[in-house]
Amino acid sequence: MDKATKEHFREKLLAMKKELIEALNNKYNEALELGSDGIQDTADEAYNLYNKNIMLGRVETDALKLRLVDQALQRIENDTYGVCIECEEEINPRRLEYVPFARYCTECKSELEKKGLIKM
Ligand SMILES: [Zn+2]
Repeated sequence: MDKATKEHFREKLLAMKKELIEALNNKYNEALELGSDGIQDTADEAYNLYNKNIMLGRVETDALKLRLVDQALQRIENDTYGVCIECEEEINPRRLEYVPFARYCTECKSELEKKGLIKM
């Protein structure tokens, strides 16, 4: 991968990282605020708990994504970016355009997902 392309993906990743951190902060605060506004009946409580779990689920997904983004940035530094960490083939640049934090090529990813080893 040439320097300009690497730089392109690095900027993409950094922008993504910033967005994820902001989203995480917002969602986390929202989830924490739920159920902390005074007296509620049981239905309210159940509803809030339900929402809280959904929100925390999203926080979890974002947190995972953030970790992958960080790892991808690390791979750019180490000059191993854009290479599948499983089979060491180059990852299709079109895939990286959509998923700049991709660790696996399409084949390895679907293989690992089938085995239930990865979520993203
Ligand atoms: Zn692979």
